[in-house]
Amino acid sequence: MPHWSRQVEPREPPDVLVAGGGMAGFSAAVAAARSGARVLLVEQYADLGGTATTCGVGAFCGETVGQGEVFDDVIAALDRLGAVQDYAPYACREFRKFDHELLKFVLADLAHAACVELLLHARVVDATRSGRRIDQVLLHTAAGLSAVAPRVVIDCTGNAALAHAAGLETLKGRPGDGLQLPMSLMFFIRDVGRPVAPMLPAGCRRYADKSELPMLSLWKEGDGKIGCKLKVIGFDSTDADGFSDSEIAARREMMSVLEFLQRTSHPTYKLDYVATQIGVREGRRVVGDYVLTEADLRAGRRFDDGIALGCFYLDAHSPTDTANVYQTEDRHVPPYHVPLRSLRPRGTDNVLVAGRCLSADQMALSSARVMTTASMMGQAAGLAAATAADAGIALNALDIPRLRADLSARGAVLDA
Ligand SMILES: Cc1cc2nc3c(=O)[nH]c(=O)nc-3n(C[C@H](O)[C@H](O)[C@H](O)COP(=O)(O)OP(=O)(O)OC[C@H]3O[C@@H](n4cnc5c(N)ncnc54)[C@H](O)[C@@H]3O)c2cc1C
Repeated sequence: MPHWSRQVEPREPPDVLVAGGGMAGFSAAVAAARSGARVLLVEQYADLGGTATTCGVGAFCGETVGQGEVFDDVIAALDRLGAVQDYAPYACREFRKFDHELLKFVLADLAHAACVELLLHARVVDATRSGRRIDQVLLHTAAGLSAVAPRVVIDCTGNAALAHAAGLETLKGRPGDGLQLPMSLMFFIRDVGRPVAPMLPAGCRRYADKSELPMLSLWKEGDGKIGCKLKVIGFDSTDADGFSDSEIAARREMMSVLEFLQRTSHPTYKLDYVATQIGVREGRRVVGDYVLTEADLRAGRRFDDGIALGCFYLDAHSPTDTANVYQTEDRHVPPYHVPLRSLRPRGTDNVLVAGRCLSADQMALSSARVMTTASMMGQAAGLAAATAADAGIALNALDIPRLRADLSARGAVLDA
């Protein structure tokens, strides 16, 4: 094994470092900063939003009211730009559409207003631990490597990148075969008002009939644009080569599907835009002080340290079938708690996670990963981290009734 040793530039330590600027990381950073903490938010891409923006997802699943003031502010800002569908309760409509390009602007603007120190084009690459604490986090930025020593870290990378780098225990996939929830590539086509010549690049499969296509969801985006979601199976997002291969394979598949659409149902449509990254539903998840389970969700279980309320159905597509097949027929669950214990990696004092790398089994993750719940977890993690950093205490020593009361005061409905 090669061993590297070198001096790296130190960076001024924040109270709270948030790794990953998806809906969870954004919400965590803003909540912590609004609580008075000095917050560094590290994001590898140019925009915040993560899966929502980089992967082109344009609808909030679940309940969009009562998620907390950070999410409320996102909705209000989108609304001012005419970029979000009107409200309907989850019981009436499962999705609330928004413009994912404008979301990029809205999130950066809100983070800036909250005085979050935002470091884009920066990647968390490693971390060191002393006992139960992560003490140093290694970043790779446009300027090279630098090290930062935050009081509290929140891993919102979606794939527990920081926790994994620090050697904390993680899980992935489902029991038995370890297969992850399938990925999907989002791409967009536009009506150009005249017939286009379908083109199939060499080596791409030619589909003869609709029944042969992989699962493909189409929806109208307005202004002649249609969104397309293409299911992709057989790849592991935590494997370096597998993740890279998934992008190549998905784009080849997209060309086959596009040619089929142009030859059949959409003869006047051209490729408009392809998401920067394939959509990953599941990466690594931490093993926390509690692993949230499918049984907890089905029972609508409540916890003393419940800090988020999920309600979305078990959205677990089969990882072995390209068709529209779910792992369970009985998908609906009552509202359930996500406990703070499931955001605390086991054996740590100054680490939290939020979003889709929470401590949960695959079926529980399939519901709790949606953006509404991810944001709710993020707001809670941010508030908890800021409180612990300020008081100089371990995260498992927080006053839980007070944390829950503070979250409720910030608009989080925890006990519906
Ligand atoms: C195809 C698809 C369709 C979906 N449809 C919906 C839907 O309609 N509605 C809905 O609510 N949910 C949907 N989801 C789920 C939802 O979008 C995600 O689960 C949710 O956005 C996850 O948010 P997150 O913040 O936990 O993670 P992510 O959005 O994955 O954010 C993680 C962030 O961390 C960054 N990052 C990762 N590693 C590093 C690193 N080492 N250093 C720095 N930054 C890093 C990433 O760039 C990213 O910005 C869908 C998911 C997929 C894949």
